[in-house]
Amino acid sequence: MNKKIAVVGAGLIGTSIALRLKQKGKDVVLIDKSFTEQPASGGNAGIIAYCDIFPMIDAKLLLKIPFWLLNPRAMVSLKPSYALKMFPWFIELLKSTSPKRKEGYVEAKLSIMKSALSDHYTQIDQQDIERFIAETGTYYLYSKQSSFEGDANVRKLKAEHGYEPEIVSANDAYKRIDGLEQGVYKAVFEKDSANLKSPMGLLKYLRDKAVGLGVELKQDKVSNIRRNTDKIYLDFEDGNFIEVDEIVIAAGAYSRKLVNDLGFDIPLDTERGYNVTIPNSPFKFNVGVIAKDAQIAISSLDDGLRVGGGVEFAGIDAKPNYERIDVMLKLAKELFPSIPTDRGERWMGCRPSMADDLPVIGQHPRDRRISFAFGHGHLGMTMAAVTAKHISNMIVDGKTDIDLTPFRVDRF
Ligand SMILES: Cc1cc2nc3c(=O)[nH]c(=O)nc-3n(C[C@H](O)[C@H](O)[C@H](O)COP(=O)(O)OP(=O)(O)OC[C@H]3O[C@@H](n4cnc5c(N)ncnc54)[C@H](O)[C@@H]3O)c2cc1C
Repeated sequence: MNKKIAVVGAGLIGTSIALRLKQKGKDVVLIDKSFTEQPASGGNAGIIAYCDIFPMIDAKLLLKIPFWLLNPRAMVSLKPSYALKMFPWFIELLKSTSPKRKEGYVEAKLSIMKSALSDHYTQIDQQDIERFIAETGTYYLYSKQSSFEGDANVRKLKAEHGYEPEIVSANDAYKRIDGLEQGVYKAVFEKDSANLKSPMGLLKYLRDKAVGLGVELKQDKVSNIRRNTDKIYLDFEDGNFIEVDEIVIAAGAYSRKLVNDLGFDIPLDTERGYNVTIPNSPFKFNVGVIAKDAQIAISSLDDGLRVGGGVEFAGIDAKPNYERIDVMLKLAKELFPSIPTDRGERWMGCRPSMADDLPVIGQHPRDRRISFAFGHGHLGMTMAAVTAKHISNMIVDGKTDIDLTPFRVDRF
C-alpha cells in the first residue's frame, strides 16, 4: 500500500514539497491552520535572490541591541518584554559568526542557491513561467556614501563567486527605475536575481496544481505529534487526529514547537517584517528594488506597489505594530516621492529565522519517516523550490545531489 505523507504547513515551502511528492507518486495530505490568510510566503517582496550567499548577520550588529530596544518603530527593533526570550538565539548567532563557521556557511549557501531559480521553473508549467517570474535583476539603492563603501567587501566576494554586481550612478538609476527621483548616492545592480510578479499568486497556483494532481488539503492546526514504530499521529486543535506513515514539518516560523515534540530544541525564532501593498501605483518597474540604508524593499507587483521590510524581534504571538509601516513609507518617499500614502493593505509576516541563518533541510537522524524543511529566514521564497526538490528526493529516493549536512536539524 502507498504510504501516506502529511506535510504540515502550506506556505511556499510546504506546498512545493507536497507538489513534488505527488509528482513522484506519493499519497499526500497538505495541512494548514488557514488556507485563506496570507503567510510569509504570500506577503514577501518577491525577490529570488539566489546570489545572496553571505550571512546577513554580523557579530558587530549585536552591539546595536540597546538601540533596538529603545525604538519600537526603528527598522530593527527588539521588544523589551521579549528580549530575555531572544537571548539564547542571539548567543547561537554569535557562535555562528566565527570565521570557520562563516566559511562553511558560504559553501552551504552556494550548494543550495545554484539551482534555486531553475528549480522554481521546474515547478511551474512552461506556458505559465512568464506569468510569475521575470529575470530582471535587483537594484540596491544607497543614500549614503559610507554605506555604499561599507558594502565594497561583499561586492568583491560576490564577484569572486561569479556574481559580479554593476555599479550604477545616481543619474542612471533615476533613468532606469520608473518613479525613482531623488535620494540616491549610488546604486548597485545585481543581475543574478529574479523577481516574482505575485508571491501570493504563485502560492495559489502551486496549491491548485498540487490539488489538481490529487494532493488532499486539510485545514486544521496541528497541536501535537505522537508516534510509535508503526504510525505517526497528528493531533489537531479541534480534538481530532489523523494517522500517517511519514511527515514533513514545513510550518515556517511556527515549526519550533512541533520540532520540540520530536525531541529537538532548535534556535528558531522570527524576524517579523511589515509591508503595505498599494493598488493603482502611479509608476511601475519590473526589477527588484532594495533601499539599503532604509532597509526596505519596494516591489512593483501585479498586486500593487509593495513597500516593506524591517526586522522586529517580538516573537510569533505579539500583536502587529502597523505604525512601523508609516516610517517605511516616509523613507520610501525620500526616493520615490510620488508613492501614495492614503491607501493600501497593511500586513505583518513572520520570517522563520534560524540563529545561524541557514535553513533546516533534511531528515530526522534516527527516524527517516520525519523530514524537516523550515527556517529559511529572509530568503525562504528564493529557496522554496530547491528545498522541495531535496526533501522529496530524500523521501522517495533516499538521496539527493548535494550534501545536506550543513542543514541538519541536530547541528546545534
Ligand atoms: C516582509 C518580508 C519580505 C520578504 N521578502 C523576501 C524576498 O524578497 N525573497 C525571499 O526569498 N524571501 C523573502 N521573505 C522570506 C520568505 O517570505 C519566508 O522565508 C518564506 O515565505 C517562508 O516560507 P515557509 O513556507 O517556510 O513559511 P510560511 O510562508 O510562514 O508558511 C508556513 C505555514 O505553516 C502554517 N502553520 C504554522 N503552524 C501550523 C500548525 N501548527 N498547523 C498547521 N499549519 C501551521 C501557517 O499557517 C503557514 O501557512 C520575506 C519575508 C518577509 C516577512
